Amino acid sequence: MVDSKIYDAVIIGGGQSSLACAYHLRRTTLDFIILDEQKKCGGAWLKTWDSLRLFSPAEHSSLPGWPMPKHKDGFPPKDHVINYLCEYEKRYDFPVKRPVTVNSIARNKEVFKIDSSSGKISAKTIISATGTWKTPWIPQIKGRDKFKGIQVHSAHYKNPEIFKDKKVLVVGEGNSGAQILAEVSKVAKTTWATLEEPQYLPDGVDGRVLFDVATAKYKAKKEGRSFTPKNYNLKSIVMVPAVKEARKRGVLQSYGNIKGLTEDAVIFHNEAVKNFDAIIWCTGFKAATGYLKNIAKIDKNGKIKTEGTRAVNSPGLWLVGYGGWTGFASATLIGVGRSARATVKEIVQYTES
Ligand code: FAD
Repeated sequence: MVDSKIYDAVIIGGGQSSLACAYHLRRTTLDFIILDEQKKCGGAWLKTWDSLRLFSPAEHSSLPGWPMPKHKDGFPPKDHVINYLCEYEKRYDFPVKRPVTVNSIARNKEVFKIDSSSGKISAKTIISATGTWKTPWIPQIKGRDKFKGIQVHSAHYKNPEIFKDKKVLVVGEGNSGAQILAEVSKVAKTTWATLEEPQYLPDGVDGRVLFDVATAKYKAKKEGRSFTPKNYNLKSIVMVPAVKEARKRGVLQSYGNIKGLTEDAVIFHNEAVKNFDAIIWCTGFKAATGYLKNIAKIDKNGKIKTEGTRAVNSPGLWLVGYGGWTGFASATLIGVGRSARATVKEIVQYTES
């Protein structure tokens, strides 16, 4: 691709955060494009496991402008989300280029020079919306490279098929860990390793309540008030139907934390040693921001110092959708609209100044 013009804004990434920004950019006169390395629309939802469902009903999972259509089962499956994101893109006719990977970005005075798999592209401003799915994180456990069984991160887990009749360790006390444990325990002999005792939300508390609690917390912080949401630790496990069903079967029991691996076994903190055929690491992600290393200082978790979504030490760069550090609830469909609106407002001011 030979593209000699200088865009007002280039969005890197084509998932939900990118689309929310594009929606607001469409309402300005700014000239922008989206570069996304996937072959298809849908962002990280294309990569998640087959049975993943939203935590909230469709009407509480919408991007700005056009609500997600309702789903008959209440909590929509991932294909419903992917269809919504694809239709959203079409509806607003966003200028998306796929598949295009951005390798790095350099700064030449006021203009960013983007080095991509489709050639060089220039921009006055950059919105980084690359999510976290590309950079799964696994803790450094002694002997991890020695273990000869299957090791898979939740980023690459699709369904329980390959674990049938095996002894499987699921590591991680978050929602991914609980949901994958619930599914794999139906076909395999599972053990759950967690750093801390898993915390559960009360039954019936789903993404809607969490969003309301997060909003109340955000408002309290803004107004300088303290806020302690009783029973609603935002990091607790949501009792989706599959996890409730696993609770009934008695599989939601943590065996504690692990401290080492051998060729075929895991050593737990209580010194117990258990043999396993496979380990599923549900241990989280880092922000996929490595490609920004020439224009911003990135910490070990992929984070860049921001005020709201604006990179503090890199004029012209914004980061949207990565989680709390780039805006409250910004890693959710319903929450990212707010970050996107504020970002585009700042970009308009920046390009006019
Ligand atoms: P992504 O969807 O990851 O999109 C980023 C895009 O950027 C991808 O297409 C990627 O390929 C592309 N990209 C990355 N690097 C480059 C590059 N260098 N060049 C070009 N393109 C690049 N959210 C909800 O709202 N509701 C839920 O119920 C919900 N449930 C969840 C359950 C689980 C178990 C998990 C793990 C997540 C859940 N989420 C939920 C969160 C949601 O999946 C993510 O937060 C969301 O996909 C992030 O969107 P994004 O657009 O920021 O990033």
